[in-house]
Order: sequence, then C-alpha cells, then structure tokens
Amino acid sequence: MTSPVENYIDTYYMRHLDEDVHYPTLSGVTEADVCVIGGGLAGINTALGLVERGKNIVLIEAKRIGWGASGRNAGFVAKGYAAGESSLAKTLGLEKAQALVELTKNARKLIKKRISEFNIDCGPVIDGVLTVSWRNKAEALKKYINEANDNFGLGFEFWSRDRVQEICKTDKYYDGIFAPHDFQFNPLRYVRGLGKAIANKGGKIFENSPALKIEREGASWVVHTAAGKVKAKHVVLCCAIYMEGLDRRLENAAFPVQTYIMTTAPIEESVLKSAIDTPYAIYDTRFCSDYYRILPDNRLLWGGRVGLWAHPKNIAEAMLHDMFKLYPQLEGHVTPEVSWAGLLCYAPHKMPQIGQIEPGYWYNTGYGGHGLCPTTAGGEIVAAAIAEGDQSYKAFSPFGISYAGGKLGRYAAQMVYWWWRARDAMDI
Ligand SMILES: Cc1cc2nc3c(=O)[nH]c(=O)nc-3n(C[C@H](O)[C@H](O)[C@H](O)COP(=O)(O)OP(=O)(O)OC[C@H]3O[C@@H](n4cnc5c(N)ncnc54)[C@H](O)[C@@H]3O)c2cc1C
Repeated sequence: MTSPVENYIDTYYMRHLDEDVHYPTLSGVTEADVCVIGGGLAGINTALGLVERGKNIVLIEAKRIGWGASGRNAGFVAKGYAAGESSLAKTLGLEKAQALVELTKNARKLIKKRISEFNIDCGPVIDGVLTVSWRNKAEALKKYINEANDNFGLGFEFWSRDRVQEICKTDKYYDGIFAPHDFQFNPLRYVRGLGKAIANKGGKIFENSPALKIEREGASWVVHTAAGKVKAKHVVLCCAIYMEGLDRRLENAAFPVQTYIMTTAPIEESVLKSAIDTPYAIYDTRFCSDYYRILPDNRLLWGGRVGLWAHPKNIAEAMLHDMFKLYPQLEGHVTPEVSWAGLLCYAPHKMPQIGQIEPGYWYNTGYGGHGLCPTTAGGEIVAAAIAEGDQSYKAFSPFGISYAGGKLGRYAAQMVYWWWRARDAMDI
C-alpha cells in the first residue's frame, strides 16, 4: 500500500521551479551503509556529506525534497545560530562558542562552493544582509558589533540611521548592522539542486515515502515505509518537527513555531524604491522581526510574526498590515500573490540537536528559524562522524534532547512569545 502523492504547498518558490523531477516511492528491500530520514536541508546535507565521503546512502522523504521549512523559508543565508553568539559564550565559554560559530562561517562558504560546483540555478545570489534597529540605541549597537567582530570575526559594519534611511525609507528604523558576507538565494531551488547532486553521485532518493518504524536487526537498523524497507548500519533522523511518533525522545525534545511569508505581484519600480531602495535582505532586531527582500521582477517577499498555535486568518492581510506600518507609501500599490506558513523546530536551548542515541542511531535536527548555514555545518559533522569516526559532533552535546515540556512546554513558550511581543511594542 502506498500513500497518496503529496506535492509542495503553493509558494513563490514552488511557482518558480526550474525543473520538477520526482524521485520514486520506496518499495521492496534496499540495503545501504546509511539511511537518512527526511529530505530537508538537514537530511540533504547529511546525505551529500556521506556520498562525498564514499558512503552508500538511501534518503527517504515523506513528501517532496525540501517540502518542509527548507523549501519555503526566506532565503537569508547568515552565519551563527538561533541561540546567538553571546548566549553561546555564556553557556560554553568563549573558545567553544567561537569554534561553533566558525563552523557556520565555513558552512556559508561551502554553500557558495556547492552552488558553483553543482551549477545550481538558485539566484539571484545577492551578498549583504542588513539588520535594522527599532530602538535609538546606537552606542549599545556599536558595542555589540565590536564584541561580535573581536570575539567571532563576524565582519559586521555599523550603519548610522541616515545611512539606513537612505535605503529603507521609514522613520521607524534607527541604526543598523550590515553583514557583507551573508547573502540571499532561492532555497527550494538550492535544496533540490543538492538532491540532484546526491543522485548524480549514486545516492538513492525516495520521495513520498514516510518512515513509519525503525527497528534494530542484529548490527543493522531497519527503516520501514508503507511499501518497503531500508536495511542500514546507520540511520540518521532529520525529521524536524514532523516526527509524528517515529521517535518520541526527539519528538518531545522540541516544539513547533510557525512563521509566515507573503510574496507580492510585481510592484512599480518607482513606488517600490520610494520605500525599499536596496537589493539587500533586511530584518530587524526585535524578537518578532519583520524580514523582507526584493525578488526578481520587483516582487517583494515579506515575512514575519511567529505563533505556536494560532494561524492568522488571512496571512497576506497580516503581512500587509506590518508592511504598511513601516512603509505607508506602499499602500494601494501592493497586490499579494501567494502567502504561506512554515513550521520551525525549536529546542528550548535554541541550538541544533546533533548526536547519537545508540550506536548507529543518529539525529540531526532542531534548527529553528536559523537553519541554512547551520544545517550545512550539521550535515558535514554527522557525515564526518559516520564516515570517518570524527568526534566533532560532541561539541553539540551540551544542547541535548531533554524534554521540552510536551504540551505544557508549548504553553510556556507561547507566554514567553506574548511577553516578548509586548516588550517589542513598549520599546517602539
Ligand atoms: C517561513 C520560514 C522562514 C525561514 N527563513 C529562514 C531564513 O531566511 N534563513 C535561515 O537560515 N533559516 C530560515 N528558516 C529556517 C530554516 O528553513 C530551517 O531551519 C531549516 O530549513 C530546517 O531544515 P530541516 O531539514 O531540519 O527541516 P525541514 O526542512 O522541515 O525538513 C524536514 C523534512 O523531514 C521530512 N520528514 C519528517 N518526518 C519524516 C518521516 N517520518 N519520514 C520521511 N521524511 C520525514 C519532512 O517531510 C520534511 O521534508 C525559515 C523557516 C521558515 C518556516
């Protein structure tokens, strides 16, 4: 029995695919060195790292490659983690924090290398991400930038309010942090491009093949789907927030957070530039940040808000409301084209969860809202651990898979979220 074929949800990226190769559904028995479960960026990067190290892999995806957060995010490629550098330094000490941040800086380079090596058409790839502040706290921002540059070599630039307002024509913003080496791209085309690279190197990918059960059989693991099974020495779970009973330990160690994106129809250039006159990707320093960038043909991608349970009744309306608060000059000139929600997988510590539960039983998940560089780093780490016995993955052991509180944890997180939203509002 096979499940019905599921396609991508309707997004800008889905509407702008350059190819739509479907991988087969798993049937019968297949053997491999490693079975990777989940075809988001965590699973795809792990699988690619393994085939590049000579391993024979099978990757099974419940729906389509990049169907989850990986194929529907904002496409901001930035170093670091959701947890933030100073929080890491507090938890681990400076040296260990530096080593973890360095992994994501290398990952950012590796993404560019892979785009070129595998000829992935995921552009325009535009360097430069600007983080703007809603608060008049230039000195605090400068101090933060100096510390981040001194301690982590992040290469941040301070932008004065005047400079910010030259390109973001709103009186809401104050000063900014410019990251010249972070960049933007089309994430669905990227993740699919990596999938193609895996297949070209001999890795086997199966879509529409949810893993239903994992069992130990002698020295191997057997992963069951509705119509087939994979027998492998190692299994890597990269299922993010869609675990659905496959492994309760991992499922209970994270909670889902929703966030939303809308893209618009093309906007007349002079109108768009009267508000946003830059190719850079923009977000702000608030906990509940707006994030946006201009797409080809003068479309605008606008993202924002988070929720644990609730879904705005009309995502496009909510995004327009936030947009016009900043840029009233756009009102009457913007037509929403498509909008969507995506689920982030957060652990309470806001760090990726990478490790081994039993010999050969690995997990690589928990990337939250900051996943493009970290999943690249995580994939390399798990691949090196399995293929070469590398022990670097242990650097993530302080961020384990302890209980995230189940339903109660989600209520607690919702309260924290409301509190932070209220703080954002009071500070504006
Ligand atoms: C709206 C939005 C905007 C974002 N913006 C950014 C951004 O600009 N920059 C950034 O760095 N990050 C961003 N993120 C976060 C980033 O997208 C994620 O951190 C990252 O994609 C997580 O990758 P993943 O592989 O862990 O999860 P996912 O991409 O969610 O993949 C998990 C996959 O596992 C599959 N799966 C689950 N269970 C099974 C099973 N039993 N069998 C087989 N397959 C299974 C699912 O179908 C899914 O495809 C954003 C996320 C969202 C939702």
